[in-house]
Amino acid sequence: MKNEKEGYLEILSIIENAAIKCHRDPKEVKIVAVSKTYPWKEVSFCYEEGCRLFGESRVQEALVKQEEAPKDIEWHFIGTLQKNKVRKIINKFSLLHSVNSLELAEKISEVSLEENTVTKILLQINTSYEPTKHGFLTEQFESFISKIVLLKGVEVQGLMTMAPLTKDEKTIRSCFQNLRKIQTKFSSKDLPLKELSMGMSEDYKIAIEEGATLLRLGTILFGKRNYQGNIIIK
Ligand SMILES: *Cc1c(COP(=O)(O)O)cnc(C)c1O
Repeated sequence: MKNEKEGYLEILSIIENAAIKCHRDPKEVKIVAVSKTYPWKEVSFCYEEGCRLFGESRVQEALVKQEEAPKDIEWHFIGTLQKNKVRKIINKFSLLHSVNSLELAEKISEVSLEENTVTKILLQINTSYEPTKHGFLTEQFESFISKIVLLKGVEVQGLMTMAPLTKDEKTIRSCFQNLRKIQTKFSSKDLPLKELSMGMSEDYKIAIEEGATLLRLGTILFGKRNYQGNIIIK
């Protein structure tokens, strides 16, 4: 049986090959190891193999894990963020992937200014138009982005989306293409929307082909999560 480190290295090489195949620089495509629901000791093998980006989606769980983990990790917050939790996470994460409303961006701005920091964020786009998904709709984006770029204390680094849970490759691909189109349309010298956070365990290969720079990978690295992620960390 393959050990978990070999599994991680294999994924790295699949990603590298997929990037090369579509004429991209493999260094532009990074894994965010989604460690949510797993205690640090079960995900640390990735760290030992060189991974320094980890993604978490629950504030409390993440803060506990950060205490236990080495300090040279860049933690990304990938989950839905409530405004009342913003204060807890400012200065604890190097990138917030899922800013999905103007109000949330304003709150992040306000707290960042109080804390004398600049918080890097991605704006989440609802590219699938599923009502259950969070994020800005493409049609609304223009009016929001013009307000968000004016906010002090936040720095928009790019865009994030989630494709629907489906086996239909065309549907998935078109969501990723939508994100890319928004990037093309709104990126400028003053606002380089450099990062595209898209692609999870089931669809990361398509995401690479469509320009992803941050792949959010959980299951494929760490195995299936129990109970949709409710574990108790002591
Ligand atoms: C859990 C989660 C992931 C990882 O999903 P896998 O299918 O396990 O790779 C990616 N992105 C977000 C926003 C998540 O909540």
